[in-house]
Amino acid sequence: MRLLKIILSTLLILAVLAAGLFYYSLNNHVSIGEYEKLYEGVDTNPNNSDIKIQFAGVSTLIISDDSTTIMTDGFFSRFPSWDMLFGEIEPQKEDIKWAVDKLAMDKLDAVLVVHSHFDHAMDAPEVAKLTGAPMYGSESTANIGRGWDLPENQIKIFQDRQPMQFGKFKITPILSNHFVFANAAVKEQALGGNQEITAPLVPPVSALEYKMGGAYSFLFEHPRGNFLLQSSAGWKAGSLDGIKVDKVILGIGGLGSQTLDYQTTYFKELVDAVNAKHIYLIHWDAFAGSIRQPIQGPSLFLDWYASSTIKGFEAVEREAAKRPNLKVNLLPQWEKVKL
Ligand SMILES: [Zn+2]
Repeated sequence: MRLLKIILSTLLILAVLAAGLFYYSLNNHVSIGEYEKLYEGVDTNPNNSDIKIQFAGVSTLIISDDSTTIMTDGFFSRFPSWDMLFGEIEPQKEDIKWAVDKLAMDKLDAVLVVHSHFDHAMDAPEVAKLTGAPMYGSESTANIGRGWDLPENQIKIFQDRQPMQFGKFKITPILSNHFVFANAAVKEQALGGNQEITAPLVPPVSALEYKMGGAYSFLFEHPRGNFLLQSSAGWKAGSLDGIKVDKVILGIGGLGSQTLDYQTTYFKELVDAVNAKHIYLIHWDAFAGSIRQPIQGPSLFLDWYASSTIKGFEAVEREAAKRPNLKVNLLPQWEKVKL
C-alpha cells in the first residue's frame, strides 16, 4: 500500500512537471541571439525611385516603386500556440486593421498569396476588403476568399507561369514545392491527403483546414531590378531554369529541422540556380503572440516540434560561408528597405 502511494505521488509530480514544461514551452519563444547581426547593412534610406520592401512577418511583404504597391500574403493574425495546435482559428480583424493602418499605404494594387496554409492566406480576403485591392492566388486561396465573403470581382486566380502586370512590375507565379516537414506527423498533417480547398472555407476552423493548394515562387521583374520570392523552403527541380535575379527573398521556416543534404540542395536550387548575390531571410518568426509586439522566434514547443530555428540560421551561415560573395540579411519589421 505504501509503495503504491509512493508510485502514485511520483507519477502525479511528474505529470505536473510535464504540464508545467509544456505550458512554459508554448508561452516562451526562441531568441535568435547572435543572428540579429543579419539586420546590419540593410539600406533603410531608400530614394523615391528605388524599389522598396517592407517586411511585416512570415512572408507578408509590401513591395512598392511608389507608383504601384503589391502585398504578398497579408497575414497579420497571431494566435495562442494552443489554438493553432488544438483549437480553431479565424482572422483577427482588429489586428489586421491595425497592421493595414500602420503600413499607411496610399493604395494597394494587389494582394498575392504564395500558398493557402493559414500563415499565408487566411487574412488576405480581409486585407482585400479593407483596401479594395484584388486578391490573387490559387483555386484554394479563392475559396478562402469566398468563405470570407470577399466579392467575386476581387477574387483572381493566377496560373502557373502566366505573368501579371501591375504598373511596372511584371510578376510571374511559378509552381514550386512546399517545404517538406522533417517530422512525419507534421508532414502528414500539413501536406498529407488532398491538398486543395474545394469549397468556401468559413472560419473559425482548425488550422489544418487551410490546405496548401500549391506553393508558388514569385518572380518580380521591374526596370529597377529583378528578384524572386521563395516563401516556403522547398524547391521544384528545374522550375527556375533560365531565370536570373540579383536578389532572393528566401523563406527558411523549418529549414533547420531538415537534413544537411536538404539544406544544401535548397541553396543550390534557390540561390545558385538563379545567380543570386543577395538574400533576405524571411519566415523564421512566430505565428503566435501579437502582430502589435516586436517580431520574435517561434514558441519553444513549436520550434522543437517543427522549426529548429537556430539550426536553420546555422545552415544559412554554413551555406553563406561557401559563397563568399553572397550577402545575407534579415529585414527589419515594418521599415522601408531599399531592395
Ligand atoms: Zn505552408
